[in-house]
Amino acid sequence: MIRAPLQFHRPHSIDEAVRLLSQCAQDGEDAKLLAGGQSLLPSMNLGLVAPAHIISLNHVTGLDAIRRDDDMLAIGAGTTHRSLAESEVVQTYCPILSETAACIGDVQVRNRGTLGGSIGHFDPAADYPPVLVLLDAAFRIVGPNGERTVAAKDIFVDYMTTSLSADEVLTEIRVPVLSPDTGTAYVKFTRVEGGFAIVGVGACLGLNSDGTCRSIRVGICGAAPVPVRLTAIEDTLKGKTVDDTFIEAVADAAYETAHDPVAELHAAADYKREMVRVFTRRAVKTASERAA
Ligand SMILES: Cc1cc2nc3c(=O)[nH]c(=O)nc-3n(C[C@H](O)[C@H](O)[C@H](O)COP(=O)(O)OP(=O)(O)OC[C@H]3O[C@@H](n4cnc5c(N)ncnc54)[C@H](O)[C@@H]3O)c2cc1C
Repeated sequence: MIRAPLQFHRPHSIDEAVRLLSQCAQDGEDAKLLAGGQSLLPSMNLGLVAPAHIISLNHVTGLDAIRRDDDMLAIGAGTTHRSLAESEVVQTYCPILSETAACIGDVQVRNRGTLGGSIGHFDPAADYPPVLVLLDAAFRIVGPNGERTVAAKDIFVDYMTTSLSADEVLTEIRVPVLSPDTGTAYVKFTRVEGGFAIVGVGACLGLNSDGTCRSIRVGICGAAPVPVRLTAIEDTLKGKTVDDTFIEAVADAAYETAHDPVAELHAAADYKREMVRVFTRRAVKTASERAA
């Protein structure tokens, strides 16, 4: 139940949305952007947030565009999980993002929920953040002082906290076009089908012609309050033969790095740490099979 009266705004451009956000901030009134409403509305129903103003992005055109821009894919923040899962461009050039979108919630959530809304809400169990971190994604943000671009490593700051200000709008997420010989996989451990990840692991593996590792990137959610990337081991594995020993080295590194999992109702911290190892093993194995 939404408990307090609120004002609903329908801007038709990003500039208008930013002006409204700035005005609310100046007036000392709490305002929230509305995208798919799949996290904001449950939060309001539970009384966790009670904004005086809702600023809907649903009438801003172009916010759901997906386009190739040289060696990057530019994805509008208003792109739904379903569009990302079904987009031929994304499936071809960044399949891990389609695979990730396809495993979010259920069909209703995927039809309404958006990439930008998932970043804005930043649940530590959300599926996109570890994948965007491993892809070195870039985030275009518009605020009262113009546009800025933030790297994935700098956007997820702390538990449910991003570096977006209250008067800023995330407009676009840019991810690299992956070469066709790159194998990727996103796997998640959930309690029930369609549930949030207890642990989620994304892996992206490029092979040299002799089968050795050209590049490997791994991103994990559930290992800490913010997504974890296995940067320390990624460089040392270059040139190594991709076999069971290789996969076990990545899984062990993930276990060591997952030093700060947040315990939850269905999984103690130690258990989550063990699941990080198991699901990293699965993600890297699947990525290697797809790269071969
Ligand atoms: C039943 C259920 C199951 C779910 N399962 C999963 C799951 O398995 N995995 C998963 O990752 N997620 C899951 N979710 C969350 C889902 O992915 C949401 O769609 C997402 O978290 C929020 O996207 P939204 O477009 O609905 O945003 P909204 O709910 O409209 O907004 C969320 C927050 O982001 C802000 N925001 C929205 N757009 C922008 C923008 N462009 N710039 C800046 N801030 C913005 C809003 O102000 C708000 O604070 C689930 C949700 C439900 C209800």
